[in-house]
Amino acid sequence: MKMVLMLVGGCVLLAGLLIFMRYMALKRAAKEQEEAARALPEDEVQCFSCGLVVPREKALEKKGRYFCGVKRNDRDGNPIQRASGDGSGS
Ligand SMILES: [Zn+2]
Repeated sequence: MKMVLMLVGGCVLLAGLLIFMRYMALKRAAKEQEEAARALPEDEVQCFSCGLVVPREKALEKKGRYFCGVKRNDRDGNPIQRASGDGSGS
Protein backbone atom coordinates (compact mmCIF):
# COMPACT_ATOMS: atom_id res chain seq x y z
CA MET A 1 0.00 0.00 0.00
CA LYS A 2 2.80 2.38 0.88
CA MET A 3 4.36 1.67 -2.48
CA VAL A 4 1.19 2.74 -4.30
CA LEU A 5 0.98 5.94 -2.30
CA MET A 6 4.58 6.77 -3.10
CA LEU A 7 3.95 6.04 -6.76
CA VAL A 8 0.91 8.29 -6.83
CA GLY A 9 2.78 11.00 -4.95
CA GLY A 10 5.63 10.80 -7.42
CA CYS A 11 3.27 11.06 -10.35
CA VAL A 12 1.54 14.08 -8.88
CA LEU A 13 4.89 15.71 -8.23
CA LEU A 14 6.05 14.98 -11.76
CA ALA A 15 2.83 16.27 -13.28
CA GLY A 16 3.08 19.42 -11.22
CA LEU A 17 6.64 19.93 -12.35
CA LEU A 18 5.67 19.44 -15.98
CA ILE A 19 2.80 21.90 -15.68
CA PHE A 20 5.09 24.40 -14.00
CA MET A 21 7.73 24.02 -16.71
CA ARG A 22 5.15 24.43 -19.45
CA TYR A 23 3.76 27.49 -17.72
CA MET A 24 7.22 29.03 -17.51
CA ALA A 25 7.92 28.23 -21.17
CA LEU A 26 4.64 29.80 -22.24
CA LYS A 27 5.33 32.85 -20.14
CA ARG A 28 8.79 33.24 -21.61
CA ALA A 29 7.50 32.76 -25.17
CA ALA A 30 4.86 35.41 -24.62
CA LYS A 31 7.47 37.79 -23.26
CA GLU A 32 9.78 37.18 -26.21
CA GLN A 33 6.94 37.77 -28.63
CA GLU A 34 6.09 41.01 -26.90
CA GLU A 35 9.68 42.16 -27.06
CA ALA A 36 9.95 41.23 -30.72
CA ALA A 37 6.87 43.28 -31.48
CA ARG A 38 8.38 46.20 -29.66
CA ALA A 39 11.80 45.79 -31.26
CA LEU A 40 11.28 48.31 -34.04
CA PRO A 41 12.21 51.82 -33.00
CA GLU A 42 9.64 54.47 -33.74
CA ASP A 43 11.66 56.05 -36.50
CA GLU A 44 12.13 52.83 -38.39
CA VAL A 45 9.60 51.05 -40.54
CA GLN A 46 9.47 47.69 -42.21
CA CYS A 47 9.13 47.40 -45.98
CA PHE A 48 5.77 45.93 -46.89
CA SER A 49 7.07 44.01 -49.88
CA CYS A 50 10.44 42.66 -48.76
CA GLY A 51 10.49 43.11 -44.98
CA LEU A 52 13.60 45.26 -44.93
CA VAL A 53 13.76 47.69 -42.02
CA VAL A 54 14.52 51.21 -43.17
CA PRO A 55 14.49 54.64 -41.51
CA ARG A 56 11.08 56.26 -41.85
CA GLU A 57 12.42 59.27 -43.72
CA LYS A 58 13.96 56.99 -46.35
CA ALA A 59 10.90 54.83 -46.76
CA LEU A 60 8.24 55.42 -49.35
CA GLU A 61 4.72 55.45 -48.04
CA LYS A 62 1.80 54.34 -50.11
CA LYS A 63 -1.67 53.98 -48.65
CA GLY A 64 -0.31 53.54 -45.13
CA ARG A 65 2.22 50.94 -46.19
CA TYR A 66 5.93 51.50 -46.22
CA PHE A 67 8.35 50.43 -48.90
CA CYS A 68 12.11 50.53 -48.81
CA GLY A 69 12.31 51.77 -52.40
CA VAL A 70 15.35 49.63 -53.02
CA LYS A 71 15.26 47.65 -56.19
CA ARG A 72 16.11 44.00 -55.87
CA ASN A 73 19.20 44.26 -58.06
CA ASP A 74 20.58 47.13 -56.01
CA ARG A 75 20.06 45.36 -52.71
CA ASP A 76 21.70 42.15 -53.82
CA GLY A 77 24.86 44.09 -54.59
CA ASN A 78 24.87 42.84 -58.11
CA PRO A 79 26.17 45.63 -60.30
CA ILE A 80 26.00 45.09 -63.98
CA GLN A 81 29.49 44.72 -65.32
CA ARG A 82 29.91 45.67 -68.90
CA ALA A 83 32.46 43.57 -70.66
CA SER A 84 33.32 45.96 -73.39
CA GLY A 85 36.31 45.01 -75.40
CA ASP A 86 38.59 48.02 -75.60
CA GLY A 87 40.97 46.38 -78.02
CA SER A 88 43.89 46.09 -75.62
CA GLY A 89 44.02 42.32 -75.84
CA SER A 90 46.26 40.05 -77.96
ZN1 LIG B 1 11.48 46.50 -49.83
